[in-house]
Amino acid sequence: MTTIYLKSHKEESLKRFHPWVFSGAIARVVLDAAHKSEAPEEGELVAVRSAANEILGVGHWQVGSIAVRILAFGVEMLPAGFWRERIRAAYQMREAIGLIQKENNTFRLIHGEGDFLPGLIVDVYAETAVIQAHSVGMHVCRNEIAEAILAEVPQVQNIYYKSDDTLPFKAPVEGERVGWLKEPSDPYREADRSTAGRLEVPSTGEEFWSIENGLQFRIDWLRGQKTGFFIDQRENRALVERYAKDKDVLNMFCYTGGFSLYALRGGAKTVDSVDVSQKAIELVNVNVAKNFPSATNHTAVAADAFEYLTAQKAQGRTYDLIILDPPAFAKHRDAVKNALRGYQRINAKAIEMIRPGGILFTFSCSQAVDKEAFRLAVFSAAAQVGRKVRILHQLHQPQDHPINIYHPEGEYLKGLVLYVE
Ligand code: SAH
Repeated sequence: MTTIYLKSHKEESLKRFHPWVFSGAIARVVLDAAHKSEAPEEGELVAVRSAANEILGVGHWQVGSIAVRILAFGVEMLPAGFWRERIRAAYQMREAIGLIQKENNTFRLIHGEGDFLPGLIVDVYAETAVIQAHSVGMHVCRNEIAEAILAEVPQVQNIYYKSDDTLPFKAPVEGERVGWLKEPSDPYREADRSTAGRLEVPSTGEEFWSIENGLQFRIDWLRGQKTGFFIDQRENRALVERYAKDKDVLNMFCYTGGFSLYALRGGAKTVDSVDVSQKAIELVNVNVAKNFPSATNHTAVAADAFEYLTAQKAQGRTYDLIILDPPAFAKHRDAVKNALRGYQRINAKAIEMIRPGGILFTFSCSQAVDKEAFRLAVFSAAAQVGRKVRILHQLHQPQDHPINIYHPEGEYLKGLVLYVE
């Protein structure tokens, strides 16, 4: 096996179980005899040793500033049964905390570093697991991972693989980046089989429903964003339900309407759902119709957030409760400044439209923007509008998106619930 030797004193973070080896920490690479190339192959398993030749761990080699993501510490090879053991541990945790129930079969099974599997995301929607690889190493292991999930997670029957957006763009990977690893067995889908023998997913995705806290959602992992749904807002949606009674609610950046359904169940007077994506708006309508077939108090609009808020403001529109859950404004550190300006702008627009005594749920899912910076951006927005604002709750990612205590970078979702006078 290829061995990576670190520069002296560069082993400290690994000894504290931080799972990344940065390329600058590497002194030399000793390729195993089988290698024809001059460097390890992206996705290859490599052993990592200190300058003093202590074995530190084994992980996936990557091209980039993070050169190795450690899978197992203190060993030179992955132990037998590694994938099953890790997946079992992740599943058991979710079961132990009461997350998985008849009324909730939607959950994140593997949250990368947070479940000690850097580079791997697995979301479960009823009987289907969607695997997303963020590293070539995880791509290489996808079939083993799929088998381990089928063996360890009783509710999972089908496995879809969706890594077209998450694998390094230029990496020359073998095999498909998207497709079924274990197909659903419904015979009627035979009709959808292409001549090549590959299963084409039915164009509507109509039959895939998943339950979150008793609410049903159609999950379209094929064309949807990420793995198809934003499971990370589950607990925060439940909080919206608590505050929604008799309120006029605006769910901005609604995607498939997660917050809207909870607001409707909580007894909201009206709910407006807004997203720039027409496809998302179609799904919101499908989800509302499924859960509240006779609701007449819900409206879904495909529009840009800034334009919508500006136009509504001009008409004197106001709300009792607004949810702002924008996409990550900063995907990288160098974009943070602009992102903060974006957060300030959108929050100012929302605060302006809240009736006295109303509530704003505001979020940032940018990992590069920390809690304090986000709070400052929202503070600046409140000051700019000149309203009296108090923080009622500080929100974060839920328990199935755990943060590995040795890897604080895993904290990404933060939210504030504000009371606006
Ligand atoms: N709140 C959602 C997740 C939001 S993800 C949930 O609970 O599921 C962010 C959403 O913002 C995406 O659906 C994306 O289509 C939408 N979006 C991105 N840019 C936008 C813009 N300028 N105006 C309105 N929506 C936008």
